Amino acid sequence: MRPAHTTLPAAVRVYEVSPRDGLQNEATVVSTAQKAELIAHLVAAGLRDVEVTSFVRPRWIPQLSDAAELVAMLPQVEGVDYWGLVPNPVGLERALKAQMHGVGTVLSASETHNKKNLNRTVRESLAGLEELIPVAKDEGLRVRSYISTVFGCPYEGDVAPEATLALAERLLAAGCDELVLGDTVGMANPVQVESMIRLLLDHGVRIDQIAVHFHDTRGTALANALAALWCGVTTFDASIGGLGGCPYAPGAAGNLASEDLVHMFEAMGVRTGVDLEKLAEAGHFAERVLGRELSGRYHQFHAGSARRAHTRTA
Ligand code: MG
Repeated sequence: MRPAHTTLPAAVRVYEVSPRDGLQNEATVVSTAQKAELIAHLVAAGLRDVEVTSFVRPRWIPQLSDAAELVAMLPQVEGVDYWGLVPNPVGLERALKAQMHGVGTVLSASETHNKKNLNRTVRESLAGLEELIPVAKDEGLRVRSYISTVFGCPYEGDVAPEATLALAERLLAAGCDELVLGDTVGMANPVQVESMIRLLLDHGVRIDQIAVHFHDTRGTALANALAALWCGVTTFDASIGGLGGCPYAPGAAGNLASEDLVHMFEAMGVRTGVDLEKLAEAGHFAERVLGRELSGRYHQFHAGSARRAHTRTA
């Protein structure tokens, strides 16, 4: 890994995905008011970027059909940006109407995953985004572009880093502000993370244009986050309690848990701007709303401590 003298970033930005990436994969229907309350907890904990919804056709993802209504209920806090995914021009139109601060776009580095997820070829998706992104930029929105299956595809296995590089260059040329390297089914390892990021940097991508989105399906999310941090990455996607089951691995852990990430980085002296105790409370709120235990390790540790304290005083 990196030599010991490498300087770590002093601070990072945690991009919270639970209201969208997390709830989208939940069977439980969460009310709009409860979503707004969860987001308020997350913002109160100090998170400054929250992906709150997706402007997909409501029929596709019923859990997110309340996008506009939800956004209208959110606390407006100085410095807090709310984000929504936009799959197409109609979604972008809705995101603009809802006065989002930023939008996210999605495509995959592997053909089969893109086809299954978006029902288009990669080439078709890219062509669509090359029209959509400049419109979003002209409207003053910030744009982050997810590239899924960067570190492996559940259908195709290995994915060539050059496929990601080619997409990255086209998306940046179209005007996106940030690329999000997605480890969609938790297949990445730290060496692979480092070599992918180095490849992008070697081709002129700036480190501040790279964000990472890791899944903890096989327990490697924090190790991968650390590898990205050593490379100088400062934007990390995470989800409260690890919310966001992986649709290709039933029962497996989903997104990297926000509490785990914040806990580790803060302990290392890397500032996140997030209050870990308040974040843990947000995790307990999410757990109560969903009525099931969440998988995040810090979350479980925190819940266990609270139970033990309760037992001692009872
Ligand atoms: Mg995810």
